[in-house]
Amino acid sequence: MRSSGHDLDAVRATLLVEIETLRGSSTSTADKRMPVTLDQQSVGRLSRMDALQGQAMAKAEEERRQQRLRLIDAALQRIDEGDYGYCVWCGDDIPAKRLAFDPAAAQCVDCAN
Ligand SMILES: [Zn+2]
Repeated sequence: MRSSGHDLDAVRATLLVEIETLRGSSTSTADKRMPVTLDQQSVGRLSRMDALQGQAMAKAEEERRQQRLRLIDAALQRIDEGDYGYCVWCGDDIPAKRLAFDPAAAQCVDCAN
């Protein structure tokens, strides 16, 4: 197990807060992803299209949240395994600046590009 010099407790706390926020957004927007069941007669075609478009956007947002959650889970796992702060591809240190910007970053700048 390598020592990365990162404040892992602080990083873990930051990641856990982000998980809570993401899960909260997932829950609070769940109804926007429900199948569109508007009465076509009463709302008209355009509103129905708006509703479908809104639903598609809500689903895309949810997909982004789920992807982010997977990244965060992976970062938490790297913390537990002592691999946090190292690029998962080349093994180099991930710069502290990059981790400050995104604590779930899994690759160094070179590998991410
Ligand atoms: Zn790398």
